[in-house]
Amino acid sequence: MSKAITDLTVKEVNEMVASLGVPSYRVKQLLVWVYQKLAVSYDEMTDLPVSFRRELEKQVKLHALSPVRDVRAKDGTIKVLFELVDGKTVESALMSAPAANRRHRYTVCVSTQVGCPIGCPFCATGQQGFERNLTPGEIIDQVLYFARKLKDMSDGREGERVDNIVFMGMGEPLANYDALRQAIEMLNSPDAFGLSARSMTISSTGLLPQIEKLGKEKLQVGLAISLHAPDNALRDKLVPINKKYPLEKLVPACRNYFARTGRRVSFEYVLLEDVNDSLLQAQALAGLLRGMNCHVNLIPANITTDETFRPSPRSKILAFQQELKNRNINCTLRQSRGQDIDAGCGQLRSRFTADKNRQSKR
Ligand code: SAH
Ligand code: SF4
Repeated sequence: MSKAITDLTVKEVNEMVASLGVPSYRVKQLLVWVYQKLAVSYDEMTDLPVSFRRELEKQVKLHALSPVRDVRAKDGTIKVLFELVDGKTVESALMSAPAANRRHRYTVCVSTQVGCPIGCPFCATGQQGFERNLTPGEIIDQVLYFARKLKDMSDGREGERVDNIVFMGMGEPLANYDALRQAIEMLNSPDAFGLSARSMTISSTGLLPQIEKLGKEKLQVGLAISLHAPDNALRDKLVPINKKYPLEKLVPACRNYFARTGRRVSFEYVLLEDVNDSLLQAQALAGLLRGMNCHVNLIPANITTDETFRPSPRSKILAFQQELKNRNINCTLRQSRGQDIDAGCGQLRSRFTADKNRQSKR
């Protein structure tokens, strides 16, 4: 038995329950236990018959992931390393931001693959190579883990909950389209987790066929494109998939996504010193996006092991941002989160693997 219950669609849960000869109204109860009451064991589901619970235990696991490291940064970001059934690891993060007149807003950053096939040279995950796609359950369980943590923190009161999900952890989400699609469907379904698709954002390097497909599904999820360069020559190096899907095709595909879904696309741009942070490059970026209803998210770089890529100094970041603003490009500077806990994509996992290798050599 390797499947988890979160690997199943609502239809598949119905089929499983029917195959056990249990009446269909139990499906709703079961899904509420898994996705809303966030049960940690089948034993907890006391309003389900014991025989049904025993049968479920034999059919599907309740959890696809085991947390192996859990670190909290000074700014409140929590980063967790999860072990999968085959011993591989992925990381996820919970970020919080104060909100006016109320509790904090919480965002879960989710991984979709073990490693990543795109290989961006400034990214810790990109340096780890690609191992495999995550299953829908492995994607969903990252969210449920943090939802449970927040519920425990609220101590039974109505309170802390997951407000946003960003598919911005390890991996290229659109390269694992079917599992991602299924996970979004369950996280969105009122019968399961019930979070609005408008509160979810997929970050992608720009796989054109999948962007097209996603637009047609009219899912209402946000799309963020990792741009990082205003021209093909540089983007070919920083985001190698650009050789296959160059800017002159990517930008129109983003316009089309907006036309189809009504969701404005945002562009991520990580600032690397003397690589992509000059004023001329800011002007070229403004030119590329001119007239488009979009938003640019400038990201201060996290330091990785590759010394060719250094974070831009603050003064250059601010000058770059001002240059975009002068050209009427909507842009914000992303706060760098969890600096003291290897918060960059794939950094905690790199550290964990290095520690493990050191231990095994002793
Ligand atoms: N793989 C997807 C989503 C996850 S990465 C993607 O690349 O879009 C989320 C964002 O962090 C991406 O824009 C990515 O380029 C960026 N990133 C990767 N390495 C980084 C680093 N060392 N410092 C800052 N941002 C980084
Ligand atoms: Fe993969 Fe994103 Fe890292 Fe590029 S930045 S290697 S796409 S995880």
